[in-house]
Amino acid sequence: MRPLTLSRRISAISESATMAVDARAKALRASGEAVIGFGAGEPDFPTPEHIVEAAVVACRDISTHKYTPAGGLPILKEALAEKTERDSGWCPRPSEILVTNGGKHAVYNACAAVLDPGDEVLLPAPYWTTYPEVIALAGGVPTVLPTDIVSSFRVSVEQLEASRTNRTKALFLVSPSNPTGAVYPAEEIVAIGRWASKHGIWIIADEIYEHLVYEGNEHYSVRTLVPEIADRCLIVNGVAKTYAMTGWRVGWLLGPSEAIKAATNLQSHATSNVSNVAQRAALAAVSGGLEEVEAMRRSFDRRRQRMVELLRAIKGVELMEPQGSFYTFPDFSAFLEREIAGHRPNTTIELSALILDIAKVAIVPGEAFGAPGYARLSFALADDDLEEGIGRIGSFLNG
Ligand code: PMP
Repeated sequence: MRPLTLSRRISAISESATMAVDARAKALRASGEAVIGFGAGEPDFPTPEHIVEAAVVACRDISTHKYTPAGGLPILKEALAEKTERDSGWCPRPSEILVTNGGKHAVYNACAAVLDPGDEVLLPAPYWTTYPEVIALAGGVPTVLPTDIVSSFRVSVEQLEASRTNRTKALFLVSPSNPTGAVYPAEEIVAIGRWASKHGIWIIADEIYEHLVYEGNEHYSVRTLVPEIADRCLIVNGVAKTYAMTGWRVGWLLGPSEAIKAATNLQSHATSNVSNVAQRAALAAVSGGLEEVEAMRRSFDRRRQRMVELLRAIKGVELMEPQGSFYTFPDFSAFLEREIAGHRPNTTIELSALILDIAKVAIVPGEAFGAPGYARLSFALADDDLEEGIGRIGSFLNG
């Protein structure tokens, strides 16, 4: 029999660690265990009713049973332009917008559009697990820049400059951040934007958590604060987190027409348009008000504060209070290489596996985000589960 030979590029992709934790937690649940999951990267709320209703109406309209232009429904692009004007203060033209199958697909299209084999991409860590894989798929090479609690999980221009080479093509700028909850203040965004513009480096700005910021923190878009970056800036966004629409798969990419045209050509051959019905639902979402978003944000904020309080009460856990998104990213390194419940975990992968198997709580080890020693806990879960889950982790660690 001939050996199975898969593409080297595809074989190098690793399984998403967040999905792996989720699968193990679900398997335990299916076998009757009461597992509490802090792993999910999605709101626990249903999609607001008026959005669902728009999709129901769209299903009954036969024009929705057809393809849309590959780049998205013109009416949705119009609404996205208005939404960008409302939230970020600049107005993209239709040629500067591509509607994608979720924010993840926007990241993929962005990397495919600007990277050539061997191009280096500055990637601040902890990073969202998908970025290095997508960079590598496009032939790029991630240059990982570590940050920690002391630096509030933010990179500085000095750090970026120290890693810049003549192959540096792009930089990922993610604020608010998954997994750390860090939010960059305006002056740091300005400094980073100006530095990138000066060196002709693309910024891929992931703004998917723009509306989830807490306690006086604000989201700033680099495209707004540093207009001169416009011809080298790609913005990733989507409805998933803001409107509790993870399953609908609608995101978008904003950027200069030439890059958007290239990305649209790619998408036209890869997936064609995003589901017509889902685009109509997204239209209802982005053209509506932000009242429901604000109500969800307030719930997340309450849970965020409670989670910080509970985690800080666990001796040995170090933590930065998240300023945005819906994750905390505590440092668990004090619990490595020592005896816990008859085991001796050496990595946060091992520690997380023990917490899942013994305490029946799912958390995502920091290794998935390029940050061993830490773990990610989402606070997008019910208040009771949050209390119970952190309680179990505390008893397990210091039992
Ligand atoms: N960017 C970040 C930072 C994310 O956390 C996520 C979802 N986990 C996405 C993009 C993609 O979201 P989606 O594809 O569901 O729109």
